[in-house]
Amino acid sequence: MSLRDIPSVDHLLNHPQAASLISAYGHALCVQAFREQLALTRHAVLEGAPSPDEQTLINQTGDMLNSWLTPTLRSVINATGVIIHTNLGRSPLSRSAREAILSVSSGYSTLEYELQRGRRGKRDMHAEALITRLTGAEAALVVNNNAAAILLALTSLARRKQVLISRSQLIEIGGGFRIPDVLKQSGAKLVEVGTTNRTHLRDFENVIEDRTALIMRAHHSNFKIVGFTTEPSLTELVELGKRHGIPVLDDIGSGALLDTAQFGLGHEPTVQESLQIGSSLVAFSGDKLLGGPQAGILTGEKGLIDKLRRQPLARAVRPDKLCLAALSATLLHYMKGNATSEVPVWRMIAATEDSVEGRAVAWRKYLGQGEIVPGRSTVGGGSLPEETLPTTLLALEVKHPNAFAGRLREVDPPIIARVEEDRVILDPRTVLADQEDDLLTGIELVLKR
Ligand SMILES: *Cc1c(COP(=O)(O)O)cnc(C)c1O
Repeated sequence: MSLRDIPSVDHLLNHPQAASLISAYGHALCVQAFREQLALTRHAVLEGAPSPDEQTLINQTGDMLNSWLTPTLRSVINATGVIIHTNLGRSPLSRSAREAILSVSSGYSTLEYELQRGRRGKRDMHAEALITRLTGAEAALVVNNNAAAILLALTSLARRKQVLISRSQLIEIGGGFRIPDVLKQSGAKLVEVGTTNRTHLRDFENVIEDRTALIMRAHHSNFKIVGFTTEPSLTELVELGKRHGIPVLDDIGSGALLDTAQFGLGHEPTVQESLQIGSSLVAFSGDKLLGGPQAGILTGEKGLIDKLRRQPLARAVRPDKLCLAALSATLLHYMKGNATSEVPVWRMIAATEDSVEGRAVAWRKYLGQGEIVPGRSTVGGGSLPEETLPTTLLALEVKHPNAFAGRLREVDPPIIARVEEDRVILDPRTVLADQEDDLLTGIELVLKR
């Protein structure tokens, strides 16, 4: 075999079998795809592979074109039992949040327009009024995500000055987001206080000086320090800050507005608590326990929020209209008191053991196989490390569980399941009710193969 056996792009374009590709994808895209496919083929032939016949080349090119035009960002079914799954897009949105996105994006909107006066308005007002009403904060600011919120706060309040933070809170959240790196980026100087396991209030007191601009506290998020440990409480830090005229920034990460403890979980700090204790600024995500779109939210003292708003960086990290539409709609659920029934992450957290078990049993019945076993769902999203909710799983005994899980990811929509102890595990808690038919059809399809 030699490279000379491989046809030219022109030859393939004029092949009768290529006509359907050209009519489906257009001439220009087909030229590009044939070029790439032929380059791959030449490479393979040089490595010793046999050269494929023309029909095979055209089929391979068809597959390539198809994959080019299939979006890589697609909807999946999350059967993992991890409620706020960062890799799977964190929080699913409520129906009204989805409708708000559709309505605001289908045409023009009041993004920066005051209807009453018929003149320019501010995008700041939409979600921020709701946040202050819900939390009792003086002011609020919405940005692109919590990392941006922290960067903005540090840049605005502590650039070329010092920020005190306990050594035990110099965390990496995941995806490479590290508090010390954000501090460096902001131009603030990090002062590490105390030791990895023990930090006392007096350690903070001892390092305060003229250039100390901010005391920061970061939620441990995704880990727990146990054993011989201590950290000053937020109350102590706030009191210390007040005495020295230094604001306290509390990065609570998940941003719960409701108490997780009412659902048998540990207590995740809420925004309201942090503000009540007296944090000057509280920073949190929009798409973790708030259950909304990706956003970073800063709440707290009006003077500080106004200062942040004036930073040029604030413009660079501002939220778009889709985010503001979904965030406002999500916050309205909390205003109306229906978050646990309307916001999907809270509905999943609040789902009773009986209802989850009922679904697992119904799945088993439909599929005619699998075993009902007790298990644990997790909240995820860096909130409540090691805290779990009792759940009921459907465990499928299949020959090659990892390969089976792989095939579940190939169905449409893809199904993401866990493999444990040589079984494929499905947790009903994170499967949305309207995805159940797709889930069962998908599993059935893979079982039949
Ligand atoms: C998740 C998290 C962040 C980052 O939030 P994003 O919204 O993903 O930018 C920052 N701090 C803490 C404590 C977190 O848990």
